[in-house]
Parts: sequence; C-alpha cells; structure tokens
Amino acid sequence: MIQDTHGRQHTYLRISLTDNCNLRCFYCMPEEEYEFTPTSKLMQADEIEELAKIFVGLGVNKIRLTGGEPLVRKDAGDIIMRLSKLPVKLTLTTNATRVHDFIEIFEKADLTSLNVSLDTLDKDRFIFMTRRDQFERTLDNINLLIEGGFHVKINMVVMKGLNDAELLDFVAWTKDQPIHVRFIEFMPFEGNRWTSNKVVTLQEMLDTIQTKFEIESLYNGIHDTDKKFRAIGHMGTFAVISTMSSPFCEGCNRIRLTADGKIKNCLFSKQETDLLTALRQGEDVVSLIHHNISLKAKALGGQFEANINQIHSEDIHNRSMITIGG
Ligand code: SAM
Ligand code: SF4
Repeated sequence: MIQDTHGRQHTYLRISLTDNCNLRCFYCMPEEEYEFTPTSKLMQADEIEELAKIFVGLGVNKIRLTGGEPLVRKDAGDIIMRLSKLPVKLTLTTNATRVHDFIEIFEKADLTSLNVSLDTLDKDRFIFMTRRDQFERTLDNINLLIEGGFHVKINMVVMKGLNDAELLDFVAWTKDQPIHVRFIEFMPFEGNRWTSNKVVTLQEMLDTIQTKFEIESLYNGIHDTDKKFRAIGHMGTFAVISTMSSPFCEGCNRIRLTADGKIKNCLFSKQETDLLTALRQGEDVVSLIHHNISLKAKALGGQFEANINQIHSEDIHNRSMITIGG
C-alpha cells in the first residue's frame, strides 16, 4: 500500500504519455515558445509498463492516461494495449481530435470510460481558446464515442467573461444525451495568466444553473473530485470540480507520473522524484515512491489556501499543466 502521513491510501495513478499536444489551450500551455520534451527523455512503452506494474504491486487499481494529448503519441495504441492487461480500471483523458483512429483499440482494451475536454460549443470561441481549427472534428468524435456506448465525461474549464455564459447550454446538452459534463474551476499554473477574478466558483456556477434548471444533488464517492448534480428529467448529469473554492484533498488517492518519469504527489506539489532515471539505472524505485508520497502535503501541495482572493499565481512554483499531466 502507498500511504501518506495523513492516512490517505493511494490507489489511482495518472500517467502522462507526452507533454506534446495538437491544440494550444492557453490556460494549459505556457505562453512563451514551448519546447516539447525530446522522445529519448520520455518514458518508453516498456518503461511505462514496468513502472505501472510496480505501482499495481503497491495497490494501484486505477490508471488514467493523460498528457499533453496522449493520443498524439505514435505508440499510444501499444501502450493502451499493454496496460489493459494489468488488473486495473484503465481510463483516458483526451481532447478527442484523434479519437476516430482509436475506437477499435479502446474496444479491444476494454477502455469504456473517457474524459474529453471541450470548453465551448461555439466554433469561433473554440479556435480562440485552443488556437487550432478542430471544433467539428472534436464534436464529431464526441458523438462517435456516445454512439459507441462509451461512458463520456466532458471537461469544461469555466472562465469568467470568456465561456461562463455557456454554462446553461452545457447543462441543456445533458437533457437527451447520456453525457456527464464537469465544470472545472480555472486553476493557476506557471505561465497561464491566472487571476482570481477569472475563476467562476462552485456556488456561482450553481446560482447560474438554477436560474433555468431545477437540480438535484447526486451521490459523491469518498475519492471523487467532482460534486455531482442532475437537472431534473435530464438523461445526463453535470458536476463541478471545485479545486479553488472547495478543494477535495481529504479523500485524495492520486499519484501523478509525468511523461519524463517524475512522480508528483499532488497537482500543486513542488517536489518531484525521478523514477525513470532510477529505473534505467536499476535502482530501487519502490522506496523512492514511498518517500515521495511521505512528503505529500495535507492540501493543495502546501502552496496555497482555498481563499481565492489571497492567491498570487506568481508565488506558486509548479510546472505548467501540460507538463504535469492533467
Ligand atoms: N489533452 C487532454 C485534454 O485536454 O483532455 C489531456 C490533458 S489536459 C492537461 C487534462 C485536463 O486538464 C483537461 O480537461 C484540461 O481542460 C484541464 N486543464 C488544463 N489546464 C487547466 C487549468 N489551468 N485549470 C483547470 N483545468 C485545466
Ligand atoms: Fe492540449 Fe489538453 Fe492542454 Fe488543451 S488542455 S493544450 S488539449 S493538453
């Protein structure tokens, strides 16, 4: 078991396959010219498999592949198939632009649940936010997943004055579709222009949604990061990931492995431990994992408090989201 000093067991590993991406969401990628990590410095497919097996041996029972965009990696299919042989629930977070090439692999790997990012239902706004013209492709692929019977969660990062006017449209989308929309509070990372007045909080989102929809609260599991709701009579659901206004660190069971093989015990942790180099040099990876998790802070990487107005993003030391793996 991988336990921290606050009594939390860690059973959920999120593996970033790459820090490369075919979109350029400004809240995720640093503004300055960004150089992707060279392939030789990334974990190779066999190394990912080996590290994943070590984690499984320590009690991990769920693995999510993420990035960057995991499906831009040439050997993504091979990695998915390798990990599908492990006794874990395997899932994936993607921007959906390449999903059409992977449907068969998902089916073969029994990968039935995916998180897909989509921040707007407006084509021009999509191009503005992602700096790429992939709106139709993304929507088509989301529909492909729904028609294929996959469990689809839609991640929308909500930002004041940018896309928050679309909250009601996203809830309306859940009326006749079996989708699960998750509204994410905008989080601060290096170079992403975060300011507190761009955050739309859980309460503000619910206030807006309730101007049009009657809603009910749904059950939340102890490790869930989202607070779940349903608009009465709707087929799908919606939820809010309230990292900034109402964090969920108490039930955290997550470990992150960056694409260059560093373990991070929290999205906001400053410290990282290099597992890839240790693995390549034949060193004891298990003790490094335990050591890293023993340093885990009680909440929010020990970097800030859940009082949005007192957070100054320039004081937060961390990688950008794209290099961590969301
Ligand atoms: N490329 C894939 C995608 O977009 O779904 C996977 C990686 S992406 C980094 C994972 C998730 O992190 C996405 O849902 C994205 O919206 C979210 N994300 C990135 N930057 C964020 C930020 N600053 N605040 C909140 N969520 C963020
Ligand atoms: Fe790429 Fe996902 Fe980041 Fe957008 S959120 S830039 S799709 S990794």
